[in-house]
Amino acid sequence: MATTEQATTTPITYDKLFLGGAWEAPAGESTIEVVSPSTEQYAGYVPEASETDADRAVAAARRAFDDPSGWATWTPDARGEALERLAVALEARGPEMARRVSLQNGMPISISTALEAGFPPMLLRYYAQHARTTPAAEVRPGLLGGHTLVTREPVGVVAAIVPWNFPQALTILKLAPLLAAGCTVVIKPAPETVFDAFLLAEAVAEADLPAGVVSVVPGGRELGAHLVSHPGVDKVAFTGSTAAGRAIGRTCGELLRPVTLELGGKSAAIVLDDADLASNLEALFGVTLMNNGQTCWLNSRILAPKSRYDDVLEVLSGLAGGVTIGDALDPATQIGPMTSARQRERVEGYIATGRAEGARVATGGGRPAGLDKGFFVEPTVFADVDNTATIAREEIFGPVLSVIPYADVDEAVAIANDSEYGLGGTVWTSDARRGVDVARRVRSGTIGINAYANDPTAPFGGIKSSGIGSELGPEGFAAYQQVKSIYLDAADSGEGL
Ligand code: NAD
Repeated sequence: MATTEQATTTPITYDKLFLGGAWEAPAGESTIEVVSPSTEQYAGYVPEASETDADRAVAAARRAFDDPSGWATWTPDARGEALERLAVALEARGPEMARRVSLQNGMPISISTALEAGFPPMLLRYYAQHARTTPAAEVRPGLLGGHTLVTREPVGVVAAIVPWNFPQALTILKLAPLLAAGCTVVIKPAPETVFDAFLLAEAVAEADLPAGVVSVVPGGRELGAHLVSHPGVDKVAFTGSTAAGRAIGRTCGELLRPVTLELGGKSAAIVLDDADLASNLEALFGVTLMNNGQTCWLNSRILAPKSRYDDVLEVLSGLAGGVTIGDALDPATQIGPMTSARQRERVEGYIATGRAEGARVATGGGRPAGLDKGFFVEPTVFADVDNTATIAREEIFGPVLSVIPYADVDEAVAIANDSEYGLGGTVWTSDARRGVDVARRVRSGTIGINAYANDPTAPFGGIKSSGIGSELGPEGFAAYQQVKSIYLDAADSGEGL
């Protein structure tokens, strides 16, 4: 067990909002207070944005986008340089960014350092370069004798709504491509994770982006809903729960407003009979328990061949039972607390349901000893789980794994696919090509062989109730563009366009 450190030092406080490129007094007096989930101590506050503040932010984004010589009209190179300045400004704030994320949501600091501080600058540079090297227009010879100029234009003002579990990475997954494409944005962080969003705003100010291109409005779901249906918004980019995604999708459907939805998951790790799990423990930990189980694509269902069921259960129980649990800010911590008391209640409710429905607790199942403060739950492995059980069907969003037996590969694939969701997954095998064959049969937006990573160059997204659309890669860039066909006179070959 890691030594519990003082999670909270000096409270972080802000009295102004970053609206339209400047720090402005909020219209109302409400604040959002943050409590550290590791220590339950007060960590500080920020102003809560009201609908008036959000309207101001959208109006500024609209002006910045519609400006005839503004951001949307800059060359990809000029925008790329601005993205690179933002990358530098974020790098300079890297350690503080990691600290703020871990302080607020309980993510082990080793993970926030890599993914919340390290990943965003990489992504900004990737999209800066991608935009420079991807032509925004092409002349196509047609079949009717003429040519057409096909252009890719920025979609406009984006409302970016993000959850608390990877607040920075999930913001930059939207911010980097939309800026590179020439869009402007109003970011709404989750109320649980606001300090990192304000640090991002400071970096945006330092990077000298034009006024109005980026604003940050912290608030709850009502404020999110206000943005989703706002007449000044052209596109919604949402990451969060499937329930909220459905509500947002309904509104966007009614408005015929483009929307990207990155939602929940219940992914499966298929362990084949030739897998060598014992040599792959770090990767196995990464895909089953990373970020205290609060990761959308985690493999919370482990499908084990009946012939090796006891083996697989032993490896997983050893893994889950052997982790270092503690304060998220302690570098030795592998598992931190749940983000909130409410989240812990939810996870403990699922553990009780698992027991009540007849699954056997192989390890964990309670609260870790010696941690009197903080919203901690023991990593828990359930054995003898049927895929129809509640804990195998619903997203728990905590460190709770179900080990499900299967007879042959066809049955493993059928179980993996018997889910409302389709976001992630892995196949574990000594024969990587056999793994790819199995992976092709799994109905999921992403899947890995003996490993899993969301590489900047490859699309990430879910199918079924896990969402619509992709982030990352060229696909994540195209999501912020709309195509236009400009038909040329039959005598015009389009030369020089
Ligand atoms: P949530 O849906 O409750 O909230 C996410 C964000 O949406 C917050 O900013 C919230 O204020 C806002 N919001 C909620 N309801 C809204 C509404 N009706 N209209 C507009 N905005 C609304 O989710 P959460 O509990 O913060 O996050 C956990 C969920 O996010 C999990 O289901 C997880 O799987 C999912 N998630 C998905 C991905 C992915 O890429 N697929 C990544 C991370 C998390």
